[in-house]
Amino acid sequence: MSRTKIIAGNWKMNLSRMQAQILTSEIQQMAKDELSSNNELILIPPFVHLQTVSHLIEKGQGVALGAQNCAAFESGAYTGEVSATMLRDYNCSFVLIGHSERRDYFHENAEVLVAKLAQALAQGLRPIVCFGEPLEVREAATYLNFVEKQLDDTLKGCTSLEGFVLAYEPVWAIGTGKTASAEQAQEVHAHIRNYLKRKFGEKVASETPILYGGSCKPDNAASIFEGQDIDGGLIGGAALKSRDFIDIAKQL
Ligand code: PEP
Repeated sequence: MSRTKIIAGNWKMNLSRMQAQILTSEIQQMAKDELSSNNELILIPPFVHLQTVSHLIEKGQGVALGAQNCAAFESGAYTGEVSATMLRDYNCSFVLIGHSERRDYFHENAEVLVAKLAQALAQGLRPIVCFGEPLEVREAATYLNFVEKQLDDTLKGCTSLEGFVLAYEPVWAIGTGKTASAEQAQEVHAHIRNYLKRKFGEKVASETPILYGGSCKPDNAASIFEGQDIDGGLIGGAALKSRDFIDIAKQL
């Protein structure tokens, strides 16, 4: 079966409001002129730029909005947090859950991620669930077990994965300029698809998009996307340049 192909741009903690506006407008125009409408583009700006980006893409087509994180609670006295309800209110369709920077720098463990996922789902947000091994696990060659357990712990309690997107992001490849080879990426994606089949059944396994992320650039995207279980990319650094982002999307 053919799965939706997705390119998502995680802007992380970058860009001024003006820069966010320019980048969104450029991406939208280039997408309209150069991309086929079968593929989905997702822009994932910092919280404070959601409204700016949302206003610009409301008028366009084929570009969706996502957030980088959401609170593990519904509402209340949680200073500095942003709830899934608020994200919905700002026209977000997607939210990243368990990006490695959240896991590592903000100590988000499985328990926190399960709660965040529940909040996202309760608001009808589509989660982009990230997982991936650090360098020492890659070097110890235990990465397949590691990523399966990481994903299994995050999806604990999920009976259906409808609307889910998964993103394999080896930590050693994020923002480092080191990309997984096409074979390394495909091996993990195939393993995870197999895990989905064992745990959730054939339909879920064949319908759930699994993205690759980690130093994906216009010049390496084509070979990575060749893998039959790779359904697109979660792009960090290269998502901050409209030309690079669109050129990556063209390789799908
Ligand atoms: C990311 O942060 O999700 C990512 C893949 O970053 P980069 O493309 O910069 O490695």
